[in-house]
Amino acid sequence: MDDSSISDSQGSDGIFFNKQGKFCIPCTAFRGFQYVAAGLRTRYENYKSNQGSSPTVIMNDNDKIPGSRSYLKEDPPDVQKLGVASWDFLHSMAAKYPDQPTVTQEGEMKEFLKIFSHVYPCHWCAKDFEKYIEKHAPRTKSKEDLSRWMCEAHNSVNGKLGKPKFDCNFWKQRWQDGWEDQQQSTVLEKQN
Ligand SMILES: Cc1cc2nc3c(=O)[nH]c(=O)nc-3n(C[C@H](O)[C@H](O)[C@H](O)COP(=O)(O)OP(=O)(O)OC[C@H]3O[C@@H](n4cnc5c(N)ncnc54)[C@H](O)[C@@H]3O)c2cc1C
Repeated sequence: MDDSSISDSQGSDGIFFNKQGKFCIPCTAFRGFQYVAAGLRTRYENYKSNQGSSPTVIMNDNDKIPGSRSYLKEDPPDVQKLGVASWDFLHSMAAKYPDQPTVTQEGEMKEFLKIFSHVYPCHWCAKDFEKYIEKHAPRTKSKEDLSRWMCEAHNSVNGKLGKPKFDCNFWKQRWQDGWEDQQQSTVLEKQN
């Protein structure tokens, strides 16, 4: 990765800056982001959270990208939004991995995770993930192996952030099949 994007200083409120003195949005929690960009607000989040509760919310043209009828001026993702989206992708990818991968598929998955740990746009998250992969090599022999490995990797970040661990016995319901109660209600809906 371009070294210039690597932060060398952390300011107050957990705000990260790169060598040009610009702050690193994907490394920073939204409260820090708000602190720096006090004039900005996440228009889309506000819009979404107001939907339903207030049908009278009117988007004016200032909230949209100039010249666009549909795209709102959304702000770049902070560390949390980026994290949720990335875990969605990583766990879903693992849940789609073959039960019996070929040697090529195994090699590609290992390579992908290594590269991912180099390019993940929150550099201090990336560094820790890289170290995790070095210590705990991805288990790529099957979908079950990879999904559990991913769950453990996610749990290691959860632990670092003081969050509770996820029970990896439920990886399949969470990332592949859905929950039985939901499945039952869908069947009942179809029957009625
Ligand atoms: C590779 C990587 C490294 C990261 N490193 C950091 C870091 O160093 N510092 C930092 O502040 N943030 C980091 N993040 C972001 C962080 O992990 C969270 O995504 C972010 O804090 C938002 O957390 P959340 O509680 O909303 O849910 P998330 O932790 O994003 O989880 C999303 C959903 O996944 C499910 N889930 C939770 N744990 C597991 C698990 N173990 N297995 C399967 N499913 C699970 C739950 O249903 C949960 O609602 C990292 C993200 C990634 C992808």
